[in-house]
Amino acid sequence: MTNETYFEGTLPSHRRERDLLIELLQADRGNRVVDDLDLDSFTMAWGFNANSGNVWLSDEDLNCVMLNSDDKLENWLNCSNCSHEGFKSEMPLNDNQECKDCEDKN
Ligand SMILES: [Zn+2]
Repeated sequence: MTNETYFEGTLPSHRRERDLLIELLQADRGNRVVDDLDLDSFTMAWGFNANSGNVWLSDEDLNCVMLNSDDKLENWLNCSNCSHEGFKSEMPLNDNQECKDCEDKN
């Protein structure tokens, strides 16, 4: 459990990632989120992948949100089988956390 009286974290060291993180937080402040997304439970860790260049917000269960093409925060999902990634609206997962392609192969 986090100490909510005092907390300290590290911000991205590069300008680009800091700018993207600011955009994510501004979307959160403006409640620019897809309809079914509730960020109240998010602990709001941030992450960065140097390979993809992606910057995201996440909660303690490793649920990730990023800005979609509509400039809204949306869940970013990973298929548990093939590791294919995408926004929830573009790549819904079944109950086994698998993408449509993997489900069709079963
Ligand atoms: Zn898959």
